[in-house]
Amino acid sequence: MALERTFSIIKPDAVAKNVIGAIYNRFESAGLRIVAAKMLHLSQEQAEGFYAEHSARPFFAALVSFMTSGPVMVQVLEGEDAVRKHREIMGATNPKDAAAGTLRADYAASIDENAVHGSDASASAAREIAYFFTEAELCARTR
Ligand code: UDP
Repeated sequence: MALERTFSIIKPDAVAKNVIGAIYNRFESAGLRIVAAKMLHLSQEQAEGFYAEHSARPFFAALVSFMTSGPVMVQVLEGEDAVRKHREIMGATNPKDAAAGTLRADYAASIDENAVHGSDASASAAREIAYFFTEAELCARTR
């Protein structure tokens, strides 16, 4: 399979728990490479725009409030089958349903504060990457 890119957020709860490095280690151990990364404190407008598809859902205001409650790490991961592999590493949306050893089983407290985000398909990955990064910020590995 060809190399694929996916988009990841380490959410404010996981940044507060000081597990950025532990989460990066899971990505790298699974063969995913970090090709762009930055720490941001999302504005309300940025969080609302990112989660626009959920704007009619009852949890939307709480989600935006949570996502703006502290800094996040955003990154682009590259590897074979990256979208699916990253979703597998994250585990189910609700940590109660997340398989043992997944990020959400290990670091998420609830479905509302669930530690990480990952694109659910290649098309959404492209859109989400472009929301946070310019093409020039994506660093190709040359060696
Ligand atoms: N979410 C929430 N309450 C819910 C369902 C979802 O706060 O009852 C939030 C949660 O942070 C989740 C995000 O909305 O990660 C997006 O939901 P989706 O179903 O797309 O899950 P994901 O793709 O993040 O696993």
